[in-house]
Amino acid sequence: MSSCLFCKILAGEISATRVYEDERLIAFNDINPQAPMHVLVVPKQHIATLNDLAGDDDDLVGAMVRAAAKIARDRGHDGPGYRTVFNCNAQAGQTVFHIHLHVLGGRVMTWPPG
Ligand code: 5GP
Ligand code: ZN
Repeated sequence: MSSCLFCKILAGEISATRVYEDERLIAFNDINPQAPMHVLVVPKQHIATLNDLAGDDDDLVGAMVRAAAKIARDRGHDGPGYRTVFNCNAQAGQTVFHIHLHVLGGRVMTWPPG
């Protein structure tokens, strides 16, 4: 989708620091990190929100979560803990309408989130 920021990152039109890639996903550092590790796991397929997922996407979403766990483990955050977040639509704070899984670690997290 030509107007989508994350599709532009996927196409290499906007730079990002990639930390993981496979056939279905990329992951890159968030430009405005909210923790010492703040990575976004992004499918190569454009899907606007979680509301747009279909049954065929179950494997893709599973792969996103497994990639998040690998990224956290590779950085030593598996033991202390880390947080994963999908924001869906405006009230939850979604600003980029191409699904992405936030992976945050390296500091104590509070609950409930803001
Ligand atoms: P959302 O608010 O949609 O859940 O998350 C979007 C995330 O994308 C935000 O954390 C924001 O900092 C990040 N972001 C926005 N623009 C860019 C960009 O150009 N590059 C990178 N790497 N991250 C971005
Ligand atoms: Zn997109």
